[in-house]
Amino acid sequence: MQVLSAQLDELELPLVEPFETSFGVEKRRRLLLLTLHGRSGEEGLAECVAARDPLYSSEAVETARWMLHRYLLPDLLRREVATPSEFLGRVGTLRGHPMAKAVAEMALWDLYAREHRRSLAEMLGGRKRRVEVGVSVGIQGSVPTLVQRVGDYLEDGYRRVKLKVRPGWDEEPVRAVRRAYPDLRLWVDANQAYPTSAVGAIARWASRYGVEQVEQPFAEHEVEAHALLNRGRTFRVCLDESVVDRASLDDALERRAISSLNVKPGRVGGLTVSRELAQAAAGARVPAWVGGMLETGVGRAHGVALASLPNFTLPADLSASRRYYLTEIIDRPFDLGAGSTLAVPRGPGIGVTLVDRAVAKARRRSRIFRPSGSRL
Ligand SMILES: [Mg+2]
Repeated sequence: MQVLSAQLDELELPLVEPFETSFGVEKRRRLLLLTLHGRSGEEGLAECVAARDPLYSSEAVETARWMLHRYLLPDLLRREVATPSEFLGRVGTLRGHPMAKAVAEMALWDLYAREHRRSLAEMLGGRKRRVEVGVSVGIQGSVPTLVQRVGDYLEDGYRRVKLKVRPGWDEEPVRAVRRAYPDLRLWVDANQAYPTSAVGAIARWASRYGVEQVEQPFAEHEVEAHALLNRGRTFRVCLDESVVDRASLDDALERRAISSLNVKPGRVGGLTVSRELAQAAAGARVPAWVGGMLETGVGRAHGVALASLPNFTLPADLSASRRYYLTEIIDRPFDLGAGSTLAVPRGPGIGVTLVDRAVAKARRRSRIFRPSGSRL
């Protein structure tokens, strides 16, 4: 693949409703959208999951832009690249910045698949036509509001619901949701909000109210506390932020700190790494699933393609487009289908294209990069 130019757009999109987690509230999403123009005439598209502020991780929109501008795009534009993973090897000496690397790698995957006239799902080895998904519900103003929101999602057709929890917003909302919906597949996610002393308390309410999975209750380096919670429980302990690469996954597996793996391609450095992590987890009989980071339809299309791989066996956090955005920036928004599923796009690449008018409306900045170093 020869990339002739790259366009980096910064977009701002209002969310359908504010999304509150243990570390903050998001009302609008700022994101970087990368379009690669190949010599073949094809394009490759991806979005960066870094948020405006470094709250979820140390990366942010500005650090990702700097990384792309200073290192990743110049490398991509300077030389041909045979595969997306070859590119990852080329930039492997640059430490950290997995979100910035991921957007370049994922746009290359889209270009790679389009140049081969195949869908991204096929190129990655995906077999499913539809992928099972659930919905993630942010912290609400009151427990009755939460119960109502969950009810609305069940009516929409979702079968698995993940509640965001934190100290002070856990046992009571979980009990209320369980009482209202006795058969619901109920997961919770704390985004590292608990002290390690909370192992016993979490285990008690999670077991009592039939929580199927508890995600990342403790700080990312607290592998031992997750192992303690994972010991002989009735629920799975899922790691998200703790797993940043193969070494951290192997460590968690060895210490039996994990019984479910949340893989977010935009967070772990792209699709190549995501596929490898899910394969390693499956080898240890730990199921994997694709997580979400408030992506637009572009990131959603990448996630759905990844979730079509056989090693992703639990329902993904990839809800329908209208769960998050009033207007989509892609031509074919994702709708929830029978059995709480999304269809895997079958067209070339990620199988969706941008709606220029919607992108123009959301665009706040734009820059084009070319190999000579000349920038427009
Ligand atoms: Mg999570």
